This record gives sequence, C-alpha cells and structure tokens, in this order.
Amino acid sequence: VMKSLMTKFLVVLTVVSVMTMFASQAEAKPRRMKALVVSGQNNHNWPVSHKVLKLILEQSGLFDVDIALTAPAGGDMSNFKPDFAAYDVVVLDYNGDRWPAETDAAFLDYVQGGGGVVIYHAADNAFAGWDEFNRIIALGGWEGRNEKSGPYCYLKDSKLVLDHSAGPGGSHGAQREYVMHGRDTKHPVTKGLPVNWMHAQDEMYDRMRGPANIGDLLYSGMTDPATGGSGREEPLVFTVDYGRARIFHLMLGHCGPTAEDNPAMQCVGFQTLLLRGAEWAATGKVKQPVPKDFPTATKVSLRRDYRAPEK
Ligand code: ZN
Repeated sequence: VMKSLMTKFLVVLTVVSVMTMFASQAEAKPRRMKALVVSGQNNHNWPVSHKVLKLILEQSGLFDVDIALTAPAGGDMSNFKPDFAAYDVVVLDYNGDRWPAETDAAFLDYVQGGGGVVIYHAADNAFAGWDEFNRIIALGGWEGRNEKSGPYCYLKDSKLVLDHSAGPGGSHGAQREYVMHGRDTKHPVTKGLPVNWMHAQDEMYDRMRGPANIGDLLYSGMTDPATGGSGREEPLVFTVDYGRARIFHLMLGHCGPTAEDNPAMQCVGFQTLLLRGAEWAATGKVKQPVPKDFPTATKVSLRRDYRAPEK
C-alpha cells in the first residue's frame, strides 16, 4: 500500500511540475506592446502612411496596433478622445486641426506621466502654436514657424549648435538617396546598427526650429545645397529631453503615392528605426536583433511588403 501511494504521489508531483514548466514558459513569452497610431489629417498621404506604420509594427510580431483617426480637416473634432493611457507607445502621424482641449490635456498627462511617443516625419509640422507640443518634438518646421519658434539647430564640427538668426523653419531639398551618419552607437535604439548606411529615396528635413531640447542625437545627414538643401549637417533621428517621457523623433519616411511606390518607408533602415524607436519609447529597452538585410554604407535595402525576411 505504501509503495502504491508513493507512486501516485510521484505521478502527481511530475504532472504538477510539468504544468508549472509550461506555465512559466508561457509567462516568459513577452506580451506584445500596445501601440496607437494617430492620423486622419496631414499634408502628406496619411491614408497610406498610417496603414503602412501599422503593417510594419504588427508584422514584426512585437506590437498590437490600434488606429485613432480624427475628423477630416475643418470637421467636428469634439469626439476625438483616444485613450492614450491605454498604450505603451503613441505614434503620431498627424498634422492638422487642433484637438479638443480635453484631448490635449489627456495627451500631456500621458506624456508627462512617462509615456512613450514616436514623432514620425510630418508630425513635427503639427501644432506650431502649441508651445508644449513644440517641447515634445524639440524641433519642428513649416506652418508659420520662424525665429519666434526657437533657434535653428544643426551640426558644426560634429556638435549640435543653436543658430538664432531669423528665417522660416522647415524646408527640404529634392528627394534622393542619402547616407545616414550615426552620432551615438551606445543608445539602445542604435546599438549594433552600422554607423553609416544608405537610406532609400526620401526627403531630408532641414532648417528645423524649436526649443531644441534634443536628448540623444542618434543620426544626422548632410543636406545637398545643389538641390535646395541647407548645406548643413542636420539632426534627423533623436530622442527628446522631456521629463520622464520617452520620445523618439524620426524625421525620415516621406510617404509615396501608394504603399507599393513608397521607397522611404520600404527602406529597411527606416523600418528598423521605427521598430526599435517604438520599442524603446514603450519600454526603455530594445530587445530586437539587428536585421540581416539592413542597408550598408553604399547599398539601399528595401522590404517592399514591409515584412522581414524569414530567418
Ligand atoms: Zn514629407
């Protein structure tokens, strides 16, 4: 009898430990981060860009993505009340009418409470007259920005300088392929990425102005004065120093006419920075590996379907 009881006990013990093992494996698998893409108005092709952003984020397997679209320009904004607090990261693909005061306040609560934000391309054109938003983006352009918006900010002898001279904020030369220049190889977003890599055809924002509270400058690029650029080395990818918030500002990614004809967003470098920047904004860490198809210093690399190749 003793022996039989002992056997039963051992069987139960084994079953319990196997179950515990499976349970802990399930726990070890990280939950997907929750991202909210905000769009609905933009001087850019937002009907394509917001869907492409969602596609890139979701196909990575790291994010679940919701979309919050505002009313069209001039429309009734009173119902635009996304629950920012429910997300790990908010990706702004918005340049349009002011939100309701209640939504502004909820967004500031989220950001100032330590929220994660990705400022994507023309999102830094938005809300020129909203001072706190300008501190969240650090640098902005267009929409009437000028010397009252803050200094120009660019690199001189590899250092960021502030230039208070008068003039409009925001411009860019002709679209082209250009080399990204790494400025910080230790930041979680850039660690392991090549210092120099060739970005696919895109705009390069220049002459941006603002409070210039850049946290870590990650990548810059040299504009081409022959095609309308500023002739300066411009900050293009950086974090913003704004209290406890984690803000990732990505000036790249001008959206093309269709998802198929969209080299700036099809660039593996763009997609990698978006994914790593969004993970960092959400968690403060970056666990995803550097992709094998990352561009080199001389060769553009595209994912036309926005999907990483099978490993
Ligand atoms: Zn653009």
